[in-house]
Amino acid sequence: EISFFFPKQQTLAVIKPDAMEEHREAILEEIRGRGFSVTRLKETVLSREMAEEFYKEHREKPFFNQLVEFMCRGPCMMLVLTKENAVEEWRAMMGPTDPNKARETSPESLRARFAADVLHNSVHGSSNEQHAEEKIRFIFGDISTDAELTSDDPISA
Ligand code: ADP
Ligand code: MG
Repeated sequence: EISFFFPKQQTLAVIKPDAMEEHREAILEEIRGRGFSVTRLKETVLSREMAEEFYKEHREKPFFNQLVEFMCRGPCMMLVLTKENAVEEWRAMMGPTDPNKARETSPESLRARFAADVLHNSVHGSSNEQHAEEKIRFIFGDISTDAELTSDDPISA
């Protein structure tokens, strides 16, 4: 039998403004139930500038302005999820971008259950490790890792 080993990975998850009032608790419960560690957590209202920066990869898309407005219309919950293969697993839990597609192909997914449409789709998740690292740093600032805890660190020195 072949067994696979996945190193621990971090991803950035966001509960978007449309899901905060009614579905936040259910989403958090499901995240924990699937064995993710929530290593950072904060509720925040994004400024327009921050939302534009967060979604800068989509700057040229026709929906960019709508997306930015939606993302700063109310509080978001920002989470760092840690688990083996976290990036891919969280994307699978979210389901496809468009909840109508999600309801056809992955009815158990969060977007299938909670999202209204392709814009208001309840959750965000980084699409790869590099994005995860960049967006975690953008939202939470630098997170010290073991490798960074060297003699440069005033506490450990
Ligand atoms: P995902 O969030 O699944 O990675 P994308 O990166 O393609 O999806 O898009 C980022 C976000 O932009 C989506 O989560 C959704 O809120 C919004 N979006 C994507 N496609 C559309 C669209 N065709 N119309 C309106 N909003 C969209
Ligand atoms: Mg994306």
